[in-house]
Amino acid sequence: MRIIRQGMVVLTLAALSACASQGSKPAATRPDDLADLPRSAPPGSLKDPKHDNLNAVLWSQTSAEYRALAAQAFNQAARTLAVAKADPQFSALPASEQGTPPADAPLALITDIDETVLDSSAFNADIIQNPIDPALPPAEAHKQFDQRWNDWVAQREAIAMPGAVSFLKQAEAAGVKVFYITNRKDPEKEETCNNLVQAGLPLADCASQVLTRNDAEGRPKEKGSRRKAVAAGHRVVLLLGDNLGDFADGIYTSLDSRSQLVDAQSSWWGERWIILPNPMYGSWEEVLGKIDNDAASPTYGVEQERRRLLKARTLRGVDWWQGPLKIEKKSN
Ligand SMILES: [Mg+2]
Repeated sequence: MRIIRQGMVVLTLAALSACASQGSKPAATRPDDLADLPRSAPPGSLKDPKHDNLNAVLWSQTSAEYRALAAQAFNQAARTLAVAKADPQFSALPASEQGTPPADAPLALITDIDETVLDSSAFNADIIQNPIDPALPPAEAHKQFDQRWNDWVAQREAIAMPGAVSFLKQAEAAGVKVFYITNRKDPEKEETCNNLVQAGLPLADCASQVLTRNDAEGRPKEKGSRRKAVAAGHRVVLLLGDNLGDFADGIYTSLDSRSQLVDAQSSWWGERWIILPNPMYGSWEEVLGKIDNDAASPTYGVEQERRRLLKARTLRGVDWWQGPLKIEKKSN
């Protein structure tokens, strides 16, 4: 053990020395956009491509840190409600979505469902344990994935996020109506409501309080139109979600524009917009892949590999600056 520790010290000193000799090396920063990224994955980054979601799911399911972050989110959400009730001007929506509600408008909060008030990580774990056959054509693979999801929804196995039940019950008791805006689709609505109730979350009327996705009926993936529908009759005082799209539209764009959107609303995070962690999936991942799921690929396996390669370009490791295409930080 002593030898190992001494070795570590030597390595650490060597690393510090190497850093010192590269005085002009710029501080690492996130890339401005995918177009600037190296064309090949950093070596060694894809040693176990089959389980590229394993750590994310395990962290979500097992870490005390994840539980603490959920508690932190709902504790802050409770403080927001207290502020909102005392301030008749307080809204968690921009004017373009909130409009100008009367001073006596009833209060509401809008929450997403998956990875916000329901923990659906078990489905993601099942995909790791029982992966879709990588030899399938993309269309068939996506069909099987959708069927697996629909079957899982019907089993009502999602459990409540830690702290969600007590917070939402507290909100309802304080006169703040809870609306659930989810990108689960209309055919999943009934079982979704059953799961919410089974998990102990407050839900008096599935039809009006749960707003699912239906592109043909003006309820698209982007949730702004549904937020407006709630705001037509309420002052919306809090948004809860795990995905940037739970708070604003225009998020399926680029890394840079997503960051700008977050920065433009920086004072709202933790005040009117409360976000929970989700490292397993989300719009962040779609932007990294930035590829059409139905692109002409001979097999689903090839498509999966292409997606992993695209994602791996974004990794920021110790040798990130020595990549095949050096990335310069844009001047402000
Ligand atoms: Mg979600």
